[in-house]
Amino acid sequence: MASSSAHRDIEEEFGGIMLEDEEMGGLSLAAEEEDEGFDVRWCLVGRFLNAGVIDTQEMQHMMAFLWKPGKGLYVKELGKNLFLFQFYHEIDIQRVIAGSPWTFERKQLIFHRLREGDNPRSVCLNKLDLWVQLFDLQHGFRSQSVVQSIGNYVGRFVDSDINNFSRVWREFLRVRVTVDIDQPLKRRMKISRKDNNEWFWVNFKYEQVPTFCFICGIIGHSERFCPKLFDTPLEDIEKPYGVFMRVAPRRQKNLIGAQWLRSGKVEQTSHGAGRDAAGEAATPTGAGTRPTPRHADSSSPIPETNLGRTSRDSAVTGARSVEEDPGGVQGRSGADFSGEAGTVSGVNLGRENRALMKEGG
Ligand SMILES: [Zn+2]
Repeated sequence: MASSSAHRDIEEEFGGIMLEDEEMGGLSLAAEEEDEGFDVRWCLVGRFLNAGVIDTQEMQHMMAFLWKPGKGLYVKELGKNLFLFQFYHEIDIQRVIAGSPWTFERKQLIFHRLREGDNPRSVCLNKLDLWVQLFDLQHGFRSQSVVQSIGNYVGRFVDSDINNFSRVWREFLRVRVTVDIDQPLKRRMKISRKDNNEWFWVNFKYEQVPTFCFICGIIGHSERFCPKLFDTPLEDIEKPYGVFMRVAPRRQKNLIGAQWLRSGKVEQTSHGAGRDAAGEAATPTGAGTRPTPRHADSSSPIPETNLGRTSRDSAVTGARSVEEDPGGVQGRSGADFSGEAGTVSGVNLGRENRALMKEGG
């Protein structure tokens, strides 16, 4: 009690002075970003398209598995469906950027590479890098500068396929672009010939594009959920966009019965056959339920780009039909870098093996 009353005395005696000190002192400061301990040199901020609640634990394990960053990965949840991905080397972050789109539970990761001064909680996340195939580009227009111009029309030009102008003839050229997911996808581009006033269309097909709306062309919702449905009479609804804008897996329809089909040869004992059947159930193609080098299924001497596509096709075979769910095929694009895919330039190819691994797991 004695100490308590003494304390009160001191308060009464010095209270005014202390109060004055509190009011006069202090510092005048501008609000600063709190140091959250991340290295802005190698950071991505991302959200998953159309995702509700994300299981952060599960997601970070899956992304680490897909990305296999040589120097490691740290994931921090910044908010609801907002994540910071800290890498520790330029190679690791470049591989992830070059390999997009990435998915977790069939939801695309929309990300942004942080720059000095960016607030990771308020950066705009509406950009997605995609490969686009350019069809019907007439002779005389198949040049790097035309590809670049078209890329900047589709979105923002990022890269051109190194095999575009190799000697192997291909029906299409490929360009990598950054598209704004708030804007309708472009279907085609009109190109006029200066020499004779004629013109032609260059048509676009998007590789591994997420679900997009056939009514408004915007990524992120299907036509059933298009806002236009609510302000347009049903008879006036048009669908100018469609599955024709998507690069379809060519072998899908042929192989979906593989799970039940037999070779016709005399097979092993029923015991062994049963086990095989069970093993293939996870992936009807049997194209690899476990991690396999991405070149494992490609012994033919076709150029690497084609190998990647071949690999992709077989992988997607295990998916449900594209028509049934426009987002289905992309869901498994969650690509990866198997050790063999080690170079940045090889990153976009053959990612489906990773997807299969995911599928199996
Ligand atoms: Zn729509």
